[in-house]
Amino acid sequence: MNEALLPDDAYDAKLLANVRPPDWTNPRPAPSYNLVVLGGGTAGLVTAAGAAALGAKVALVEKNLLGGDCLTVGCVPSKALLRTARFYSDLHHAPRFTGHAPVPTDVNFAAAMERMRRLRAYVSHHDSAHRFRSLGVDVFLGEAAFVDRRTVEVAGATLKFKKAVIATGSRAARPPIEGLEEVGYLTNETVFNLTARPRRLLVIGGGPLGCELAQAFARLGCDVIIANREPYFLPDEERDAADILADSLRRDGIDVRLNTEARSVTRGDGEKLVRLINDGAEATVAVDEILAGAGRVPNVEGLDLDAAGVEYDLEHGVRVNDYLRTTNRRIYAAGDVALERKFTHMADATARIVIQNALFWGRKKLGSLTIPWCTYTDPEIAHVGVYVKDARERGFPIKTFTVPMSDVDRAVLDGEEEGFVKIHVREGTDTILGATIVARHAGEMINEISLAMVAGIGLKTVSQVIHSYPTQAEAIRKAGDAYNRTRLSPFLKALSSRWLAWSR
Ligand SMILES: Cc1cc2nc3c(=O)[nH]c(=O)nc-3n(C[C@H](O)[C@H](O)[C@H](O)COP(=O)(O)OP(=O)(O)OC[C@H]3O[C@@H](n4cnc5c(N)ncnc54)[C@H](O)[C@@H]3O)c2cc1C
Repeated sequence: MNEALLPDDAYDAKLLANVRPPDWTNPRPAPSYNLVVLGGGTAGLVTAAGAAALGAKVALVEKNLLGGDCLTVGCVPSKALLRTARFYSDLHHAPRFTGHAPVPTDVNFAAAMERMRRLRAYVSHHDSAHRFRSLGVDVFLGEAAFVDRRTVEVAGATLKFKKAVIATGSRAARPPIEGLEEVGYLTNETVFNLTARPRRLLVIGGGPLGCELAQAFARLGCDVIIANREPYFLPDEERDAADILADSLRRDGIDVRLNTEARSVTRGDGEKLVRLINDGAEATVAVDEILAGAGRVPNVEGLDLDAAGVEYDLEHGVRVNDYLRTTNRRIYAAGDVALERKFTHMADATARIVIQNALFWGRKKLGSLTIPWCTYTDPEIAHVGVYVKDARERGFPIKTFTVPMSDVDRAVLDGEEEGFVKIHVREGTDTILGATIVARHAGEMINEISLAMVAGIGLKTVSQVIHSYPTQAEAIRKAGDAYNRTRLSPFLKALSSRWLAWSR
């Protein structure tokens, strides 16, 4: 049972009935499995379902809740909350549309959390134990550990395998802040349990998780401080994208503290006192709750990976090669436990690679994937391929075409003109190497660029694709138009002008 869930809630009861049925009995193990999957998050579920569909005898072992982080304490609850938060933000900005003075709106925090639990329970049937049994997968609930190079044990059962996949995911890193453990704090594993709004919230960490939840809780009426050790949010992203995000968080009333480290926490009179250091200057803030969103660590402990001959380290997780094979040739790994980029779509994509490589002599490579990602703040920040800094470091020349969203009619009409589309091509060609999009729907828009990159479609062809008017994705076509304009050399332009002058 996951202590992170509230047991007396009807929605959580429905969730549990799907992803950890209270009356579940593990099956009798088969004499041998084609594939034993350790961990029933996205990576494990996709591997198990795909392998079973191809006729493999598969065992899936989950120690907690099927669906893993994404369903219970990650993507699903966070995006449900962000949607409600956006609704309240739109209400707040109603005067821009109505011309009336703002109508005071009380945020119903408990209802926002209940909506999230209802929707989470609703989508959980995809990951249900009964569904996976009906797909032909032997589902074992219990903690898996290797016994030797070909055997896994779970809840007293012995599972012999031809191949195995480690898909045990990751968890929130415990920040080394003096006094934090004693005073108590929230992580993604507990924050979605809240039913009452913390009046004052400190978010530690300025990555995607910290920024998304800081904005959500601010819009749901909390006084939020976000402390980020780095000088920018989302340190991997382009600087101008991070700047837009910082401004947006400030506009939501968040107290943004960059270059700021939380050093120690003590308990005050019904509050938590956090000592923050900014460029050597010290300040103490008083809050009701602290949310730690500073990094993830892989779940490698307790699996007895040494018995299986699988190399790993506590920071980077299971060591895999480009085929996702571990140091034991029978064992593969997929998802957060082995990847630097910890996303659900990466867990899914690597599970598909593993099915081919483990069961069918496939030679699919992790390095061949084109991987987009998105931070679902408002505006969203999405990226695929190279960054400008990558190109500089690796010394290949690129040309960048940027279209501000304020030049895109639909964005203006929607009142969502903050942001840009920036597409990088290899200099002298129209080959797309990467893109960053900052826009309210950047996560949807980036998929067009990923498609172009995977299919080898150049920016010139993108400009020939008719985009419905008015859509925000027209920004992408406009970047293509900008590329086309660079192809018109002064000589060609002069020639064309002459021809047109002659023919009038
Ligand atoms: C707040 C938050 C928001 C996020 N939002 C997004 C988003 O919007 N988009 C996105 O792409 N990604 C998002 N992510 C990341 C995403 O949730 C993960 O990348 C994804 O869940 C990884 O899937 P996985 O299968 O590798 O691991 P997990 O989902 O962690 O699943 C691993 C499973 O293995 C089980 N397990 C562990 N040890 C054992 C054992 N010994 N025996 C049996 N079972 C075991 C665990 O209980 C768990 O169920 C978010 C993450 C967080 C925390």
